[in-house]
Amino acid sequence: MDAIDKLTFHHIKPSVQRIAIMEYLMEHCTHPTVEEIYSSLSPEMPTLSKTTVYNTLKLLCDHGAVKMLNIDERSTCYDAITQPHGHFLCRECGKVLDLITPALQQREMEGMELEGHEVQEIHYYYKGVCKQCREKQRYQDN
Ligand SMILES: [Zn+2]
Ligand SMILES: [Zn+2]
Repeated sequence: MDAIDKLTFHHIKPSVQRIAIMEYLMEHCTHPTVEEIYSSLSPEMPTLSKTTVYNTLKLLCDHGAVKMLNIDERSTCYDAITQPHGHFLCRECGKVLDLITPALQQREMEGMELEGHEVQEIHYYYKGVCKQCREKQRYQDN
């Protein structure tokens, strides 16, 4: 599925800017922030504003084409992978990584009722020190 297919699938009219933002998210599974998306795309799209990026991401979220993550209160980031999966935030480098975790459990619960409430989204957040940073620390200790 390319960006245009994904937009159309979620009933979003594929404008040039929407396609560019959707494409960026599909190609960069690093969970970028508004700031990162804006600074990466703006050199090629001089008419793009940060507000447009923000509003486009909101639209994509509202239509279920992307997911918004609020792991860290300082920054909101976005994910083109909308299937339930866990996220790991590294306290050292600030990277947000995908984690394949109790996915089965998540799949069971999304869309289900819990004590009479309808579950629409489940987020699994883990925080700690990532593999790369741990290796770096080990290297420094020696
Ligand atoms: Zn790290
Ligand atoms: Zn993710």
